[in-house]
Amino acid sequence: MTTYDLVLTRGRVIDPETGLDAVRDVGVSGGVIQAVSDQPLDGVTTVDATGLVVSPGFIDLHSHSMDVAGHRLQALDGVTTVLELEAGAYPVAAAYRRAEIEGRPLNYGFATSWAVARMSVLLGLDTSGDLDDFLAHIGREEWQRAAPRNVVDRIVGMLERDLGDGALGIGILIGYAPRVDPSEYLAVAALAARVGLPTYTHARELVEMDPTTPVDGAEEVVRAAAETGAHMHYCHVNSTSIRHVDRVLGLVEKVRAEGSRVTTEAYPYGAGMTGVGAAFLAPELLHRRGLTPHSIGLLGAEGRVPDADTLRRIRESEPGSAAFVHLLDEDDPAQFDYIQRALTFTDAAVATDAVPLLWRSGAPDPLSWPLGPDAVTHPRTAGTYGRTLRRLVRENGVLSLPEAVRRCTLVPADVVGSGVPAMRRKGRVQAGCDADLTVFAPETVSDRATYTETVRHSSGFVHVLVGGQFVVRDEHLVPTALPGRVVRA
Ligand SMILES: [Zn+2]
Repeated sequence: MTTYDLVLTRGRVIDPETGLDAVRDVGVSGGVIQAVSDQPLDGVTTVDATGLVVSPGFIDLHSHSMDVAGHRLQALDGVTTVLELEAGAYPVAAAYRRAEIEGRPLNYGFATSWAVARMSVLLGLDTSGDLDDFLAHIGREEWQRAAPRNVVDRIVGMLERDLGDGALGIGILIGYAPRVDPSEYLAVAALAARVGLPTYTHARELVEMDPTTPVDGAEEVVRAAAETGAHMHYCHVNSTSIRHVDRVLGLVEKVRAEGSRVTTEAYPYGAGMTGVGAAFLAPELLHRRGLTPHSIGLLGAEGRVPDADTLRRIRESEPGSAAFVHLLDEDDPAQFDYIQRALTFTDAAVATDAVPLLWRSGAPDPLSWPLGPDAVTHPRTAGTYGRTLRRLVRENGVLSLPEAVRRCTLVPADVVGSGVPAMRRKGRVQAGCDADLTVFAPETVSDRATYTETVRHSSGFVHVLVGGQFVVRDEHLVPTALPGRVVRA
């Protein structure tokens, strides 16, 4: 009889691709799932999973929290692979190199970054592949302007080289440069179509929010898919659509029925978060989203921004500071329903939009564990998956457990998709697939992070394995574990 390195015994195995949902033993050796069996398997180590769900590890398409501390919080929320696809990183090789040298608890990967490539050309920056490159210059108008054809060609050429360096697609933060000519967006989408990798868009303003927008943000995404043939992934439909989510999803549905490839994601929170200098947070534009300065709160500070003058001052002096933007009241069922409709839309992925942790003292300490009171973030960083399983599955019953698992695993694996063969071994509990596994208690799994206690990690994720190694064991983080591997195209 074969003896495996590790056997998870008698868990309820959910494998979305084959539809398996039954009690099985799972045998793991060499970081790979070797057997999924209804017969008892023999292991050097055995872990009893009776009463627990054994699921593919969760795959987050949208994390900006790419350091060790962020990975740990996400591990305790069931995540095994974190991907920075919306903002992306430019140059992508620098981002990969940094993570490889330092080591990471979870698997990781990056798209290239249209916005940072654009900043590097129009602002003459040397960029390091870190999100700070973007945040430091987020509010400068020189990078947000329409550019002549030769400049666009140069930007597209830079992105193409980054795709050659293993980027997983192209992150397009067009919503942060909302006056860029629509032809540039199409040129970037055409590049993605040419190389067979997706784009990941933070959409431009919807026409309901800005009647003067050069193009409606949702129309732009779906048209690009139809006109160029690119796979367009529509990031956080909840936070860019707010109360217009049905119109936006209707458009997506329509072009998909016509054969275009548009995919979506959402997260279960009513507040967004971004750099306070973002174009769409200008005081004179807030009313378009039904917001006031008081809808905005700075991360790590008490209370909300009192008035427009204060907001103007903060945007000037610290444009990269993270700010909560309270868009919908998630405790009001009618308002939460807008968010829920985005999360339950056909084949929508659950994705966090996790933000980097901030240390209030100004002395970052990403390697310390447990996190002290100095560390803060958006609660979605720590709680998106626990909250989805608690609210949508257990409390509201709008997703079955296997369907929720599918949206956290197989759906995102398939979004990253055909151009990235490594993803075909993820999001699945099948022999030959990577032993990235999340073992959780379906009756109690829950988020614990709130807007005031932002880094409280989720509970009920009992074991989390990355490449067969425990990153979470018996609900405790394993601080020495750095088994994360790079995911490249
Ligand atoms: Zn975004």
